[in-house]
Amino acid sequence: MSAEIISGTEIRKTILAEIKEEVAELKEKTGKVPGLATILVGKNPASVSYVTLKVKTALECGFHEVQDDQPEKISEQELLAIIDNYNNDPDIHGILVQLPLPKHINEKKVLTAISPDKDVDGFHPVNVGRLMIGGDAVLFPPCTPAGIQEMIIRSGTETSGAEVVVVGRSNIVGKPIALMMAQKGEGANATVTIVHTRTKDLAAHCKRADILIVAAGVPDLVKPQWIKPGATVIDVGVNRVGINETTGKAVLKGDVDFAAAREVAGKITPVPGGVGPMTIAMLMKNTLRAAKRAFEN
Ligand code: NAP
Repeated sequence: MSAEIISGTEIRKTILAEIKEEVAELKEKTGKVPGLATILVGKNPASVSYVTLKVKTALECGFHEVQDDQPEKISEQELLAIIDNYNNDPDIHGILVQLPLPKHINEKKVLTAISPDKDVDGFHPVNVGRLMIGGDAVLFPPCTPAGIQEMIIRSGTETSGAEVVVVGRSNIVGKPIALMMAQKGEGANATVTIVHTRTKDLAAHCKRADILIVAAGVPDLVKPQWIKPGATVIDVGVNRVGINETTGKAVLKGDVDFAAAREVAGKITPVPGGVGPMTIAMLMKNTLRAAKRAFEN
């Protein structure tokens, strides 16, 4: 039987509608709306398109959005001063610096300069530490892992006691999602295994998974024989495998052989239209959260 498709595009729509409603209520109660500053350095085409989408989505949610485009040659000092201004601006609740930054700027230094209270990407070491503690300590879960967990919850997949296998151990996806799934709480309480390039028998681990989360960046890495029948499969991979000659757009493929895996899995995310659309929705959710905390104080 063909697996149920978990559509990130659909879940994203629902989340954005929920955010919009909350923003309207906040405005009514406090006269204020969440503010997001989006800083883009240079004109990297992929970064420009990500930022454009983030700005558009923030405006759709009813946020106060400041799109701050800076030239490639901006100095580290100047960029840090801009961040400092937003840290002290009461109308800005979330600060996002689009990565990657030009080589002459120290990315770590820049991300650490963002106030942890406005770090809606969840990359500041303080927020990484808070994620490790879990529960009420968590301020801003990183957006892609948060999107993955939200999809698992909203698809009605049972996580408590489930065997979760995460392929990949990066700081932005693999490690945080593994940690989040192992914590106490909704959409968690799972038994988690992390696998990577040094893992001896990747297939055997994957085959045990009730929930298989794949973030390797290798097209079609996961074969249908590696999937436990009925498992929920979350494919985070976004791999450009060619150009569509008619549209001129990149052809995207996930890390899972989707067509074949669909016949074995119980639920599965497509690429595109799966995890991808969730990331920006979770960024908006974190910004709303940051604003609510600021208004309460
Ligand atoms: P990354 O930093 O390159 O990490 C990839 C991880 O996968 C590493 O831990 C690596 O193991 C592991 N890996 C690679 N090949 C493997 C193999 N053959 N067998 C087992 N493990 C393997 O990548 P990332 O930033 O986490 O991103 C992963 C994928 O998700 C990419 O396709 C990326 O484009 C996509 N992504 C999507 C979104 C989104 O949709 N919003 C967001 C972020 C990333 P080692 O540590 O041993 O090298």
